[in-house]
Amino acid sequence: MKDTGNTEPTSAELGALGHAIRRALELAESHDDRAPIVAAVLIGDEVVAWGDNEVHVDKDPSRHAEIVAMAHAAGDRPEGGLKGATVITTLQPCEMCLGAMGMAGIERVVFAAGRDAVKEGYFAYPGLFLADFMQAARHPIEFLGPVMEADVLRLYAPSGQD
Ligand SMILES: [Zn+2]
Repeated sequence: MKDTGNTEPTSAELGALGHAIRRALELAESHDDRAPIVAAVLIGDEVVAWGDNEVHVDKDPSRHAEIVAMAHAAGDRPEGGLKGATVITTLQPCEMCLGAMGMAGIERVVFAAGRDAVKEGYFAYPGLFLADFMQAARHPIEFLGPVMEADVLRLYAPSGQD
């Protein structure tokens, strides 16, 4: 099953993804035990919020980078909300984050490493694919990825470090 969308990422999305990848590589070199995942929310071409994986902070399993980025973005935009926004992330979003994106009205997701190439543990529902979320969504959501996967794959691949 192919998860890649039909359109190309914009230069703003690629710039944000490159920045997120560099930050994820930096996090991986620091000596804490977090999974080095970084996400951002874009409104149009503008990055309005960043998020790092914070699951390790309070042992809160819901603090994925995408959730953290959406929370920051929503806090800064109490009236506008996130409807129509784009999320970029260094790893294909898990099922929880996809659910939250649908609730928030995110319309576009650009990710670096794809599920087929990474450790199984990043996903909890092996029987659910991006295509299932696209098909089942109330509002259309577009997925672009893997994009720039080679730059970040060593962080998440089965033979890589945790
Ligand atoms: Zn997630």
